Amino acid sequence: MSRVLIIGAGGVGRVVAKKCAMNSQVFKEIFLASRTKSKCDLIASEIKESLNFEIKTAQIDANNVLKLTKLIKKIEPNLVINIALPYQDLTIMDACVLSGIDYLDTANYEHPDTAKFEYKEQWAKNEDFKKAGIMALLGSGFDPGVTNVFCAYAQEYLFDEINYIDILDCNAGDHGYAFATNFNPEINLREVSSNGRYWQDGVWHETKPMEIMMKWDYPEIGIKDSYLLYHEEMESLVLNIKGLKRIRFFMTFEKSYLTHMKFLEDIGMLRIDEVDVNGTKVVPLKLLAKLLPNPAGLGSCTIGTTNIGCVITGKKTGVEKKIYIYNTCDHQECFKETGAQAVSYTTGVSAMIGAKMILEGKWKNKGVFNMENFDAKPFMNELNMQGLPWKIIEMNPDTI
Ligand code: NDP
Repeated sequence: MSRVLIIGAGGVGRVVAKKCAMNSQVFKEIFLASRTKSKCDLIASEIKESLNFEIKTAQIDANNVLKLTKLIKKIEPNLVINIALPYQDLTIMDACVLSGIDYLDTANYEHPDTAKFEYKEQWAKNEDFKKAGIMALLGSGFDPGVTNVFCAYAQEYLFDEINYIDILDCNAGDHGYAFATNFNPEINLREVSSNGRYWQDGVWHETKPMEIMMKWDYPEIGIKDSYLLYHEEMESLVLNIKGLKRIRFFMTFEKSYLTHMKFLEDIGMLRIDEVDVNGTKVVPLKLLAKLLPNPAGLGSCTIGTTNIGCVITGKKTGVEKKIYIYNTCDHQECFKETGAQAVSYTTGVSAMIGAKMILEGKWKNKGVFNMENFDAKPFMNELNMQGLPWKIIEMNPDTI
């Protein structure tokens, strides 16, 4: 009998809670806790109505290790699923160590004062997790998450050696707003307005934001401008994929999104330092995030499709081979099933599958791990069964 504590009741948290409830043979008891309890209660009432499944709720400030440890010890879950913000990763990990409970998240730690995306501080907790006899699974969303699993699957089952990986993330959805982000606006804008970075021949190369663009033909969507960004899964994949010579990450943006973002940046609205406004300290990006549409509420109005996948080139039995492995998701289908748009859906379903892997003992170890550290096959099977089916296209290795 498994009991989970989900922390975070935003767009992604709602999907995780619903998908766990839809897999009640594994997730027998579900607790949902967040900063604002009323958001947990709303999700709980939706789940009661649609699935006739009771989930319990609680208020928690996950920045407070002592209070959180107390809550975890009271609930005694088998796993804590962190779907709050990256700022809470370290405190939730510490509370898990203190309570001896396994941990899972979907995004790497960020310090509120610096938009730095790296696993360093979370990996540094490896010994603590080992000593406590528990595990942490980092980055169990779609990207990071499924993209790591795609690469691990290719390495284990499709290639002898992988040389090049391009991760390609396209959201061809339309929500009807002039400007909105598809997950937490603060985290999203910190990520996409940062310098780009890719890894080649053992060295990280930095680019200006949106400096490198390529046109890519996404299956079931068409050709889209795709911009090189830094994305956190590359940090672990360069360590875990053998023979790798280059890895890059591209995301699509419409011209209108980029124009709005540039304007907001030019006038200082993306600043993450405090500004004095008549004696009140304001962080411009936090204010902007409050004004923008809440991504958790975009489900009903978003139409179109997402396509996220990896183009992988390498060798099999001495012969050059190139594949494209991807998933497409329809925003409205996701909304019908969970009340969320496809970005929350693809992340939340992947988090639930990662949790299922741990609770069923299919992914089990002591310490801190990334997704590609485990056998990809059972996770890939679950993707097909839980609403994120994937396809593989064999490509001509000579094409760019
Ligand atoms: P939201 O802003 O919609 O939700 C975040 C939730 O966390 C809110 O319920 C918020 O509470 C809660 N929260 C924030 N601070 C605290 C705190 N101190 N204590 C307790 N709860 C807190 O974000 P999303 O749902 O869009 O994103 C959730 C996570 O998913 C983020 O970490 C994001 O980076 C990650 N993500 C990962 C992706 C992937 O593919 N790997 C893709 C998309 C997102 P309140 O309601 O009070 O604000």
